[in-house]
Amino acid sequence: MAAPAANPAASDLVDERLIHGLHVQAARRAGVHAEHEPHVVFQTSTLDALFDGDFEGDLSFAELAQHGDLGLGTLDGLDGEMIALDGRFLRADPDGAITEIPPTAKTPFAVVTFFSPVVAFRIEEPLEHEAFLAALNRHAPPGSPSCAVRIDGAFELVRARSVPRQRPPYRSLAVLSDEQHVFELRGVRGTIVGFRFAAYAQGLEVPGYHLHFVDAERRRGGHVLACRPAGVDVGIDRASELHLELPPGIGLGPGQGSDARRAEIERLEGPG
Ligand SMILES: [Zn+2]
Repeated sequence: MAAPAANPAASDLVDERLIHGLHVQAARRAGVHAEHEPHVVFQTSTLDALFDGDFEGDLSFAELAQHGDLGLGTLDGLDGEMIALDGRFLRADPDGAITEIPPTAKTPFAVVTFFSPVVAFRIEEPLEHEAFLAALNRHAPPGSPSCAVRIDGAFELVRARSVPRQRPPYRSLAVLSDEQHVFELRGVRGTIVGFRFAAYAQGLEVPGYHLHFVDAERRRGGHVLACRPAGVDVGIDRASELHLELPPGIGLGPGQGSDARRAEIERLEGPG
């Protein structure tokens, strides 16, 4: 193996695009090297691949940890929701119970970054979910359509979901609508981590906000469908580069993110 370079060699790159200020580099595994550059978001595989039932992970959590300390995703076989926080990788089971993920476990879809916020502020008053997202949007760094967020504090309500493990032959991610478990956490303290991606990133990503929650005791958590913060500290990190690692057989088609697929994502992931 050649010595790792700061950037993938051109021959390793599958695709390179500049979309709305977000530099997207897609590479095969050999072309993806661990980096500690700020404002780089690393992702393995694409949301489209997940929708197509590609639930078999090929990247270990030990490898994922080389690319970020904050983020979200899922595990092999769609075995729960993953929350990455302070370099720890946690799994929320279908009932929202949290366990630590072993470094040898694998992920078919994950997004992480080495979180270094460029904006920090506090929201004192209780807010409904939509008003909360609007507040995040108001404070997001200008000219930065994609960003990573971390929100710590008190929540009157977190409505979350998780998913039970799937067995091959895998069906589409649409199984989520039948099999997801939705639960409500009330009067909790904890942390929300996640990302905002603009609509152009659809196919690769959940457009809008994709947020996961874990409580302060690291006992309950999941994918956030809605929340009502009541006194939280917010940090926002600008994301200027997206490094995509594409497993074998996964491509970046020109037709990423059809309208029908987008509607399906919105239905499953909630309004961004
Ligand atoms: Zn999620």
